[in-house]
Amino acid sequence: MTSIAFNLQAVRRRIADAAHACGRHPDDIRLLAVSKTWPAECVAEAADAGQTAFGENYAQEGADKVAALASRALEWHFIGPLQSNKTRLVANAFDWVHSIDRLKIAERLAAQRDPARPPLNVCLQVNVSGEASKSGVAPEAVAALAHAVAALSALRLRGLMSIPEPTDDMALLRQRFAKLRMLREALERDGLALDTLSMGMSHDLEPAIAEGATLVRVGTAIFGARSRAH
Ligand SMILES: *Cc1c(COP(=O)(O)O)cnc(C)c1O
Repeated sequence: MTSIAFNLQAVRRRIADAAHACGRHPDDIRLLAVSKTWPAECVAEAADAGQTAFGENYAQEGADKVAALASRALEWHFIGPLQSNKTRLVANAFDWVHSIDRLKIAERLAAQRDPARPPLNVCLQVNVSGEASKSGVAPEAVAALAHAVAALSALRLRGLMSIPEPTDDMALLRQRFAKLRMLREALERDGLALDTLSMGMSHDLEPAIAEGATLVRVGTAIFGARSRAH
């Protein structure tokens, strides 16, 4: 077994253990393998070990890997900060975008998505850490953005995503994940059916699953430590 296959097995075990610990079914939690900075060969190795969904942070790097691995049936998620000048590339290379934090970006993605393809799946990135973090829409602004994005027919609003500021305070971390869960619940009461809570990474997937994550984004625990400081 390769080390990537071995690591994938260990991560899937962590997900299953965390699900069982809180009475959830492991199949209700998807694993997104975050392959940023790693070459297409590493993605292929993970794919050979049964992994199908991959996450990328950089538009051009991600689009290049999508093209290199086009012969395989993989699902590609864009999870990084998205600038206006990269929306056309991202709208057509990827199946999902997790990092929508303003309407302008959503409108550009919707206008630029190839109409022959199914709608682009999107999540809104929410800042659940307050002052400590600058990325993501403020919790108070989520509802307005969600309704505006849901009205764009080339996009399909799937849920919410967050990257809480790193902290050793487990109770605080749980609170931040719980905040995202409650925001999703509020949107559902408001008539938006959302099936995705994208939260939890290599070091904090257990508390994220305990608070309802339906998709965890894991890089380091699968591919190893990244040498570039991304
Ligand atoms: C890099 C990254 C991850 C994966 O982080 P690891 O700590 O390597 O598991 C998850 N989500 C986002 C948005 C990232 O940029």
